[in-house]
Amino acid sequence: MTTWLSISANSDFSLYNLPFGIFDSGDGRPRAGIAIGDHIVDLAAAAETGLFGKRRFFKKIFEQPVLNDFIALGKPVTNRVRRKVQEWLCRPETPDNAGNLLADRRTARMHLPVRIGDYTDFYSSIEHATNVGKMFRPDNPLLPNWRWLPVGYHGRSSSIVPSGTPVRRPYGQILPKGQETPVFSASRQLDFELEMAFIIGKDTALGESVRVENAEDYIFGLVLFNDWSARDIQRWEYVPLGPFLGKNFASSVSPWIVPLEALKPFRTKGPKQTPPPFEYLNARGARNYDIALEVAIQAGDAEPAVVCRSNMRHLYWSMAQQLAHHTINGCNIRVGDLMASGTISGPGPGTYGSMLELSWAGQQPIPLADGSSRTFLQDGDTVVMRGWGEKPGMRVGFGEVRGEILPALSSPFLP
Ligand code: MN
Repeated sequence: MTTWLSISANSDFSLYNLPFGIFDSGDGRPRAGIAIGDHIVDLAAAAETGLFGKRRFFKKIFEQPVLNDFIALGKPVTNRVRRKVQEWLCRPETPDNAGNLLADRRTARMHLPVRIGDYTDFYSSIEHATNVGKMFRPDNPLLPNWRWLPVGYHGRSSSIVPSGTPVRRPYGQILPKGQETPVFSASRQLDFELEMAFIIGKDTALGESVRVENAEDYIFGLVLFNDWSARDIQRWEYVPLGPFLGKNFASSVSPWIVPLEALKPFRTKGPKQTPPPFEYLNARGARNYDIALEVAIQAGDAEPAVVCRSNMRHLYWSMAQQLAHHTINGCNIRVGDLMASGTISGPGPGTYGSMLELSWAGQQPIPLADGSSRTFLQDGDTVVMRGWGEKPGMRVGFGEVRGEILPALSSPFLP
């Protein structure tokens, strides 16, 4: 495939990708687009030219500030729109209307791509679960249920923000080491979690279960996900019902949803599962995805330092298994729901997807580019996560999800 547009060979947003997002060009008019190189194809403008047929129908859909109604049209329609854009980009000569249909991606403001309904976070990396388990239970790191089912919890969607949104250091209750009563304080152990998340593309009815072999039909696409975590708040509050205020102060998503179709070339087999999963979780074939992941920390204006390199293929439980498990009790899902993987750690140091693991609970500081080091995040640090699939001549990337830590505000509740 070749295009009349000039696209750099290492661009995440190649002709093979064509992810969907919501952007505005500084005019305060959020609308749908497809990223290509440093450009955005304005889908409402493209609809107006009749590129997708039914001009008024598609123009109205693409002028909305979220993609939910578009996604709900179903994969035959969303895939056809992508194909039409691809054909338009591959025309032998620059189309006359190119100027009207393209926006500048480098100056565009990106919004949340969907109105997120329910949000679930899984815990599907065996390396992450083992690392965290070891810190608390050296002899028995994995709890007995872990290899039987994809553990998860219901999170909160109201505080999910698009890449670039700063994150304020939260306050909460913290139990200082060796003490018996908690203190009220700003978190001192602010952390990131390197995750991928999928967006639901098809509703189910209450009582219906998604079969593991059909699960991909219900997944529209994927984004990068940073599940910001206040470890000290989390440690005191999580027993017995799990994560709460140590998590829901903010989570960040990358703005471009890479459709599952674009990730097909990167499908790969997952790790061998022992014990063999129950039949409802038995996903045959290549259900994992080979997507390289990295995390960099930038201290103030210093050069960013890559602190973690991992890969989505390490996940023990696949997205198909997560979705089959989530719905096996009849729990219904809706277009725009977001389901995150849990921290994706790899098998060795340098592949761990959180500061908690990289610094081993704060015992081993991680050096940064400016000569400083970190156990957890400091005010003014910016965390940047990237992800991409790559084959000879083909790159499909997610761009980035970034967020800067802002200092805690002064609190009227401090002693
Ligand atoms: Mn998480």
